[in-house]
Amino acid sequence: MKAREYRMLIDGDLIAGSSAFDVINPATAEPFAQCPKADEAILERAITAAKRAFPAWSAKSIEERARLVDKLADALEARAPEFAGLLTSEQGKPLDQAMFEIMGSVFTLRAFAQMRIEAKSIRNANGNLVIEHRTPLGVVAAITPWNFPVILLMNKLGPALVTGNTMVAKPAPTTPLTTLLFGEICKDILPPGVVNIICDQNDLGSKLTSHPDIAKVAFTGSTATGKKVMASAAGGVKRVTLELGGNDAAIVLDDVDPIAAAGKVYDGAMANAGQICVAIKRAYVPEAMYDDVCNELARLAKAAVVDDGANQGTQVGPIQNRMQFEKVKKLLDDARQRGRVLAGGAPLDRPGYFIPPTIIRDLDDDAPLVREEQFGPVLPVLKYSNIDDVIARANDSEYGLGGTVWGRDLDRAIEVAKRIDSGTVWVNQHLAIDPNIPFRGSKQSGIGGELGEAGLHEYTQAHIVNAVPL
Ligand code: NAD
Repeated sequence: MKAREYRMLIDGDLIAGSSAFDVINPATAEPFAQCPKADEAILERAITAAKRAFPAWSAKSIEERARLVDKLADALEARAPEFAGLLTSEQGKPLDQAMFEIMGSVFTLRAFAQMRIEAKSIRNANGNLVIEHRTPLGVVAAITPWNFPVILLMNKLGPALVTGNTMVAKPAPTTPLTTLLFGEICKDILPPGVVNIICDQNDLGSKLTSHPDIAKVAFTGSTATGKKVMASAAGGVKRVTLELGGNDAAIVLDDVDPIAAAGKVYDGAMANAGQICVAIKRAYVPEAMYDDVCNELARLAKAAVVDDGANQGTQVGPIQNRMQFEKVKKLLDDARQRGRVLAGGAPLDRPGYFIPPTIIRDLDDDAPLVREEQFGPVLPVLKYSNIDDVIARANDSEYGLGGTVWGRDLDRAIEVAKRIDSGTVWVNQHLAIDPNIPFRGSKQSGIGGELGEAGLHEYTQAHIVNAVPL
């Protein structure tokens, strides 16, 4: 059977690249498709098209733009099984989690299509009228990572388009195909140039972010790359939103049922094989229930079905790419020397990038697995005996993305949550990300925010009109 061809959407046309590269299925470590690759000339065409499309797109009413964003959502929903299957092939996540990401993307687009930016009257007195409008910025560069390639694009595309911007999107080189498939939908629904998609092999990102015709960079990825994006945007004083890495702590309080709490923490650490920016990446447990929680976590880890995400019943798929697989392996090799492995601990002896859910106890806070972002299904479980001390330990990180607190006394749990220095803290729940609730990182986890009305405003410039009669 002839392999399916993928094309980049540039100025309303689906085009081949200047060359192509393999896309690997992480469950087999074998290529399963080819991705077109852009060169600088194609990048230039994409930016020129987006710039040319901007005046007409931004001049449309917000209702008309929202109507088209709604149509994108409908078309994505109609092809959801196809998108989910492709997402599993390129990303590795189990099919049910892939479907969840696609339907979450549909929901996100629809939520943004409902949102409006209103002009605000700041003063209307003694003949002085002061109004704050919000105007679109121009061409937005949307750069996405490989863990949630579809929904993280929609978090940017929804608000950017509704507020009147045009876009050049660049997916991660290891998960480009679902974005290209979405380009086919955009081609049928949007005017040419409103959305353009280029694929690279980590070589065009800086050219995109530093280009003088890019007004804003919406970036999700690692903190290391985020710093480069911020530096390259400085030349043009571009707007940036950076959604970066995290090392989220879960704090289990002493009034919980240890078995039930362990189940919640396990799910928060292992979904998407731990490759979630806000995954639980270290768990702090009271001394009195430390053994019970560790043992229950280990039981759950051992019982997990680890397999190709395309197979029914799979709970944990592979790590998405070889580089990340090697990074998690290295952290594991180190952690095995320093702590006690209760479950997992080494890659599976099979093709593909499989690391089974791993629980490690008795590490100290300076172990690399505790200090660094592991981004894999490996959870260090740490002991504490004093609440002030554990809050200080949770906050002792360059990151500040999310975090969770688990406790039966809700008021007390909320008081603890308020003291965690991060953008979001969930209490007795995890991953309650909602397009209507702003999401942002503190410290080196990011700048600016996505989602909610605040996220919508990030794609606009506040503009004051201050008038008096002649
Ligand atoms: P990455 O930083 O390696 O890559 C992200 C994107 O940046 C890719 O598209 C890549 O091609 C591109 N890129 C590479 N070099 C660039 C450059 N110099 N200029 C511009 N773009 C460049 O990240 P990743 O490994 O794909 O993703 C994992 C990371 O993303 C983790 O740290 C995770 O925590 C983070 N993440 C954060 C959030 C959030 O909302 N805060 C969400 C998901 C993932």
